[in-house]
Amino acid sequence: SRFLRLNKDHQNFVLETTSGEVHCKFIVNCGGLYSDRIAKLCGVKPNLQIIPFRGEYYEIKPDKEHIVKNLIYPVPDPKFPFLGVHFTRMIHGGIEAGPNAVLAFKREGYTKRDISIQDLSQMFLYSGFWKMASKHYKMGVDEFTRSFSKKRFVKALQKLIPEIREEDIHPGGAGVRAQALEPNGKLVDDFRIVEGEKMVHVLNAPSPAATASISIGRTIAELVRKRMS
Ligand SMILES: Cc1cc2nc3c(=O)[nH]c(=O)nc-3n(C[C@H](O)[C@H](O)[C@H](O)COP(=O)(O)OP(=O)(O)OC[C@H]3O[C@@H](n4cnc5c(N)ncnc54)[C@H](O)[C@@H]3O)c2cc1C
Repeated sequence: SRFLRLNKDHQNFVLETTSGEVHCKFIVNCGGLYSDRIAKLCGVKPNLQIIPFRGEYYEIKPDKEHIVKNLIYPVPDPKFPFLGVHFTRMIHGGIEAGPNAVLAFKREGYTKRDISIQDLSQMFLYSGFWKMASKHYKMGVDEFTRSFSKKRFVKALQKLIPEIREEDIHPGGAGVRAQALEPNGKLVDDFRIVEGEKMVHVLNAPSPAATASISIGRTIAELVRKRMS
């Protein structure tokens, strides 16, 4: 059920959701792509905006899977929060190649066709967006061309496995990163957890937040415990 707005009832919060009201004493916002909007609905100024970056994958065809025997990752460029394309052996079999990092035109923009006028207007009216765009436009254009050109995507993969060819891969799935952007155009590259009265807002949880989720969960639980005691 989707959180819509917040009301108060004496000492308690009343969360209006698409499946009715939820009453609680404390709020933890882990809203990912919508965490900034949820914070605002809770009366907290996030001082950042979530910008969606789609990560598109290819999959290696089964007869070529033998060329990847382990996880193959590049050395990260500390200037960017995104790692760059890599090879991942999946737990249920198969090998993913990617992801790229393309600006999405919708917060839940999982495909190239997804566009939201509301999301785009909010993004384009944010000064931080233009500051980031002026700093990183070359990288942005490169990512767009890689998204539309399999040849360019394969060229990036060949930095890790020179013998990989276009015919060895086919399109796979995609995910959308919830990337926090500050008003000065800086892409936030660390976790950003903001505390409010009887609230904790997780406003940036980039990779490896999935791998580190148990530890992040413990940190949040500790913050809640301290604030409630
Ligand atoms: C392509 C890609 C590759 C990645 N690779 C890795 C990796 O290799 N290793 C790694 O550790 N991490 C990786 N990550 C990052 C990882 O997925 C995120 O860091 C992690 O999912 C963040 O967790 P979260 O709980 O903050 O947000 P999310 O997982 O996005 O969860 C947010 C939740 O909030 C819910 N929500 C949003 N709005 C509302 C609302 N209004 N009401 C109610 N619920 C709402 C959503 O439905 C969702 O369930 C990758 C991400 C992408 C996109």
